[in-house]
Amino acid sequence: MQVTPHVYSLHIDEDAAGAGVMHPGGSNIYFVGDPAQEMVVIDTGEHYRDWTQRILDFYAELGRPTITSILITHGHGDHIGGVDRLQEAMACPVRCHPKLVPRLGRILDPDIVVKLRSRETVRTGGGVGLRALFTPGHEADHVCYYLAPDRVLFTGDLVLGGSTTSVQDLGAYMNSLELLTGYSPKMVCPAHGPLVPNGPERIRMYIRHRNSREQQIVAALESGITGVDEIVTAIYPRNLRRGLRGAAARNVRTHLAKLKDEGRITETSPEYAIKAQ
Ligand SMILES: [Zn+2]
Repeated sequence: MQVTPHVYSLHIDEDAAGAGVMHPGGSNIYFVGDPAQEMVVIDTGEHYRDWTQRILDFYAELGRPTITSILITHGHGDHIGGVDRLQEAMACPVRCHPKLVPRLGRILDPDIVVKLRSRETVRTGGGVGLRALFTPGHEADHVCYYLAPDRVLFTGDLVLGGSTTSVQDLGAYMNSLELLTGYSPKMVCPAHGPLVPNGPERIRMYIRHRNSREQQIVAALESGITGVDEIVTAIYPRNLRRGLRGAAARNVRTHLAKLKDEGRITETSPEYAIKAQ
């Protein structure tokens, strides 16, 4: 599907691919540039043969343009799975965050894995370029890409189409969202879920959502609650499904780690004692 003059997206529905539903909204692979000249590819999907074939079929539909780079948003398995076979088919360098270079260098010939510089512009066909934005938080090696002529922001897993994302380092994550607010995309193209036409609004919504969660946690702590489970009970809906409780607790811990890093709260390790017989 052509999204804007220089952006073509391939949607892979994970149900259809028989890969289980890790991301209910499916996954997106992007080709950017001019199919009559040169293009770059953003991410290479899961390692399933079926996925790689879907990407190669889409590449054939575009007329097999010269691929000048495969750009990686981050090193999670569903973003780099097909990288070896696609690199072989497209015979181009693979560009990624410096922190991901050693790992990709073990999967691929190290000479063709080239680190990105922060804010580097990667040229592609049609006389346009993508700016690499280092955006840690979901993962330390995360990169977003901004295509200014089309006002398209490729957000990887930092901002998703249909849900909120998992966060490894919340302080870094919030800084990355703030960095994205400096751009005004007409379209956010996430790695999972539907494309988001009102990009800036979606990014602000993510920031508001995290800030209000943080305020709830601070309020719970101020009320005298001290444990993660108790915080979950206090701030999440009573009827939270069993399976989601674990995710909620992880989310609360991420917030607590950020508050601790900022010196706003202290943590006392749990104490242990022999139970009375
Ligand atoms: Zn991810």
